[in-house]
Amino acid sequence: MSEERRPESPSPPPSPFKGEGAEEGNASFVGEGARKGHVSFKGDGAAKEQEHIALVRERLAAAKNVMAITGAGISAESGVPTFRDDKGLWQKFNPLDYATREAFRRDPVKVWKWYDERRVNMAQAKPNAAHQALAAMAQPGRRVFIVTQNVDDLHEQAGSKEVVHIHGSLWRIRCERDGTVLENREVPLSELPPLCMCGETMRPDIVWFGEDLPWQPVEQIRHYFLEGPIDLCLVVGTEASFGYILQWALQARESGAMVVDVNPRDTGLGSIVDVHLRGKAGEVLPELL
Ligand code: NAD
Repeated sequence: MSEERRPESPSPPPSPFKGEGAEEGNASFVGEGARKGHVSFKGDGAAKEQEHIALVRERLAAAKNVMAITGAGISAESGVPTFRDDKGLWQKFNPLDYATREAFRRDPVKVWKWYDERRVNMAQAKPNAAHQALAAMAQPGRRVFIVTQNVDDLHEQAGSKEVVHIHGSLWRIRCERDGTVLENREVPLSELPPLCMCGETMRPDIVWFGEDLPWQPVEQIRHYFLEGPIDLCLVVGTEASFGYILQWALQARESGAMVVDVNPRDTGLGSIVDVHLRGKAGEVLPELL
């Protein structure tokens, strides 16, 4: 276990992304639509799909700066269930019983048992071809900056170096009283709920429904946008149901990026997308290399 003080504790500055939750939420965002000069490719059919793959591959080959915004879908082929799909976790569990501060206050052991089970499953998960392809995209002369909503560490396991977790981590626990954050990889946990040295019950260091995003990753992303034009933005395996995801994809587009949605289904990205690659991340992303 390694100990770290959260720089934002005990009094973090206000997040610009208020109240949009994370583990579950319905943030709304009014997209500004397609920018002039961007071409939209969303046709169906195998030939069209190959054309789209070729187009994105060409863009990637010339790219110096790639942003990837990932969600639960990128880890689905690693055996980690998503939230909102037909077989997703929220089909079996009511988010309000597990992923809120109120639920935790009401019954911390019940919430911890649910997270403990997720941690046990997650401990067995391995990066899939999609995580590996994103890691392989980072090469000398090409930066790949990953913003993930996922609380797993499969991007890091695949070898990606720049990974920003905006919704926290299943492998960290946090004390709300004194701000202590611990890395904790014990599975299953021997103590439920885990206790802080100060005696307080520790919680998963995960952004729950109704909570603000932590300021540190938000700042990292803000700095990233200041650092120069983005050539390609891959949005992979996310419903894009949070306003800030749409906002970042739009910012990438405004910075010059071709925005590519990799998902078997339509998502909330709408007209922000230039190219929709309709398929599984583990099949589509390796084709881009
Ligand atoms: P979501 O569950 O709302 O949506 C999953 C998306 O992935 C859907 O659009 C689905 O069509 C797509 N998808 C499913 N299989 C795919 C595949 N093989 N390839 C590409 N796309 C695929 O997930 P979200 O939009 O990321 O919602 C965000 C919340 O889910 C986050 O708060 C995150 O913490 C949480 N979550 C994370 C994990 C994880 O860490 N692995 C797992 C479940 C949920």
